[in-house]
Amino acid sequence: MVKWNGDIAKIALPTPFAVGDVNVYVVKGDALTLIDTGVKTERSKEALTQGLAALGLELSDIEQIILTHHHPDHAGALDFFAKEIPVYGHKNNQRWLDISDDFLESHNRFFLDYAAKFGVAEELKNKLTHHRDEIGFLSERKLRGYLAEGDELPGLPGWKTIETPGHAQSHLSFYRESDGVMIAGDHLLAKISPNPLMEPPILPGGNRPRPLLQYNASLQKLLDFSISTVYSGHGDEVKGDAVADLIQYRFERQHNRAMQVKGMLYDKPLSVFEVCQQLFPKVYLQEVGLTLSETIGQLDYLESLGEVETEIQAGVILYSIA
Ligand SMILES: [Zn+2]
Repeated sequence: MVKWNGDIAKIALPTPFAVGDVNVYVVKGDALTLIDTGVKTERSKEALTQGLAALGLELSDIEQIILTHHHPDHAGALDFFAKEIPVYGHKNNQRWLDISDDFLESHNRFFLDYAAKFGVAEELKNKLTHHRDEIGFLSERKLRGYLAEGDELPGLPGWKTIETPGHAQSHLSFYRESDGVMIAGDHLLAKISPNPLMEPPILPGGNRPRPLLQYNASLQKLLDFSISTVYSGHGDEVKGDAVADLIQYRFERQHNRAMQVKGMLYDKPLSVFEVCQQLFPKVYLQEVGLTLSETIGQLDYLESLGEVETEIQAGVILYSIA
């Protein structure tokens, strides 16, 4: 049932993805705001229309859109809204909203290079690249303004921007100090740990991001805030003391996972792909991008602790116990 909880209403929308429904939020303020949009499908549009109707609203009543990040379940349906409706988000959303030929080309070059360095099997390499005809879930739209750390949200006095990179290089969370409410996108989810997805560097040719290390830092950052409720991109809210407990639990689980990865390196040095195959037997074949991101994340973490070291052999990076 869609209803107001104070000045925030949560609407769950269906997605065709394994994650299931995505939550978008209607927030009242000087401007009636929608945080995230859901996917660009007719089913999602119908569910959004119905959800808004339960609040006595129509799609055309939405005055502005603010994005937590660029993924298609969050930013995909911008096309449902009139072109004049302003959209705000982190500047790193823009390259995924433009989807320019240049970006696609440098994206694919980055992932093919990365596949080679990580020792990915030849037949899986093309699963890491994107083609123009398979990006139908995205909308082309220019952000009206960029949001960065500490910025007050336009049209929503009292709400501040917190940069929370990790799951996406564009990821933001939004916090209202007066009642400790946070809208956190996929940064903190009650039931699942978000994948620290690899993305091309922001500056082409620059160093690749280290998304799990970014994610951990962004998670640690939440502990500095007094939080009453976290509204998430998927699933239920996390409330009160459960927030810090969940963050602690996520850190422990991730550390244990990393130690499991370290255990794989005692026999002989392994490439990222070889670790990935051991960590995700079978699944790596269907989800090579996701499973590689997760694997690199754990190796980056171990490297940051000084637990592993790397050498390059025949162009492939091999990890061994330090
Ligand atoms: Zn999501």
